[in-house]
Amino acid sequence: MNAPAKPRLAVWKFASCDGCQLSLLDCEDELLAVADGVEIALFPEASSRMLPGPYDVSLVEGSITTAHDRERIQDVRAQSRLLVTIGACATAGGIQALRNLRDVEEWKRIVYARPDWIDSLATSTPIAAHVKVDYELRGCPVSKAQLLELLAALLAGRRPNVATSSVCEECKARGTACVLVAHGTPCLGPVTQAGCGAICPAYDRGCYGCFGPKETPNPAALSEQLLALGMDRAALGRFYRTFNAAAPAFGDEAQRHDPQP
Ligand code: SF4
Ligand code: SF4
Repeated sequence: MNAPAKPRLAVWKFASCDGCQLSLLDCEDELLAVADGVEIALFPEASSRMLPGPYDVSLVEGSITTAHDRERIQDVRAQSRLLVTIGACATAGGIQALRNLRDVEEWKRIVYARPDWIDSLATSTPIAAHVKVDYELRGCPVSKAQLLELLAALLAGRRPNVATSSVCEECKARGTACVLVAHGTPCLGPVTQAGCGAICPAYDRGCYGCFGPKETPNPAALSEQLLALGMDRAALGRFYRTFNAAAPAFGDEAQRHDPQP
């Protein structure tokens, strides 16, 4: 009797730095177990073997920044039973969504010797703005532990157990003293989704919000604290915009303090 076919996995790249795909490769030993449970049908970062769809699970890294990618994501969706976005680029437009606040044509003229060779949309948008997404995994980059949990859950047909609490809870869990309270260091941890293990506060730095807004965040309350600490409104706007400028909870709060056209 033939063994049952393994679920087919595809990993796709859009506008991104490859860091989230590298998180998957960085799983090393665990990746072998994953590879045993699935058929890695398409993962150009890891292998030149590229099998045609359809795919059971597609992991999508990166945001939509070109007309070509806007069409390509439709094709990826059509070939995928489940589509999972991984990382701040794919879930919130990423650092490159800062372009949404500026004139991209002007930036192209400043940055590139031949701006006429650059084919780019005026905006960087998350994948969910273009196609239905079945699950979003946050972070810049994503957490290895959350990525493995997600893959294990998808293979077992259960709901992934990924935290939706804040980075503050991770600080408490590891016994880190609060840098905001103890030193007055600006920190986005109270409004940021857990997943990084509160690594920045553990090194006496405030959280930069890589994992994006937590469920039901209250950035207005945090902003009052940060303003009371002496942060000016322009800096507050930049603080919220860094990695997840196109995530509404952060983008709207940034806009409230530092309006951009
Ligand atoms: S989310 Fe961060 S690490 Fe992942 S691809 Fe985008 S820039 Fe790179
Ligand atoms: S250091 Fe930041 S993330 Fe940690 S408990 Fe304080 S406010 Fe929360």
